[in-house]
Amino acid sequence: MPRVKDNAFIVHKTDYGESDIIITLFSASRGKISCIAKGANRSRKRFPGSLELFEKVSFNGSIKHPLALTRIDECQLLKPYLAIQEELKSYLNGCYFLEIVNRCSAERQSNPELFELLDDLFTFLSDVPHNRNFNCRIRLFELQIITLLGFKPELSHCLDCGIKLDNDNPRGRFFNFSPQTGGLVCNHCRPRHPAAFNVSQGTINLLNQAHMLDNKLRNKVNFTPQVEAESARLCRALLSWHSGCSFKSLKILERYIDNNGIYKIAANTTTNSINSNKYGVR
Ligand SMILES: [Zn+2]
Repeated sequence: MPRVKDNAFIVHKTDYGESDIIITLFSASRGKISCIAKGANRSRKRFPGSLELFEKVSFNGSIKHPLALTRIDECQLLKPYLAIQEELKSYLNGCYFLEIVNRCSAERQSNPELFELLDDLFTFLSDVPHNRNFNCRIRLFELQIITLLGFKPELSHCLDCGIKLDNDNPRGRFFNFSPQTGGLVCNHCRPRHPAAFNVSQGTINLLNQAHMLDNKLRNKVNFTPQVEAESARLCRALLSWHSGCSFKSLKILERYIDNNGIYKIAANTTTNSINSNKYGVR
């Protein structure tokens, strides 16, 4: 029986029977893996961590059949990222990213850059009180994850008529994102795409450059509220188009943010005061 040993993040978990846990991991070298941890709720020796969302773990397991759940025999906690669980703003955003990874990444398809990005993201979310430009940073992570999942749209040509989209071309100077086609269309073709919305050059530039940003550069980037709003709308339209579903965690998150991107979180609201099942991530 093939053995597997890797580091991974816990992106989804659900109790199964009296003592088993079904877990989705995102691992460093194998990408997303659906697993079962037999007796995890009983054995503190084999599973000394709490197996909570966001945790970075090292695990040993075995694959009985290519289509079956990977069986986890042992799991050691590497980084708990506890602060994410304790800060509602971090938790709400973190759950949104976990749901993206869980729903949009392919099973057992290696994506080491996405693994690295999750490490950066969870480190950032663990330090929210000290982070300025929170919304900009979140938008950058969102753009990067879209790119790493292969969802970045074609940006050079109109998806409908094929005309080149750039500022030197009068007909192709304006960009519209068409949720029906998952790409950009020119102004001439826009009437055939009633759900299309305008996307500025600034947002296109961000999308083009997002994959090149490391943590140091992410700290320096700042952009206008218009680009921030467009970027969020574009990413969510792309995610919806590629996954064919709406994200439960996003609906919850949006309840806590007003139209200006300001969080409406009452002082006494904690992650424990919200039924986490509503996020669809556990
Ligand atoms: Zn066109």
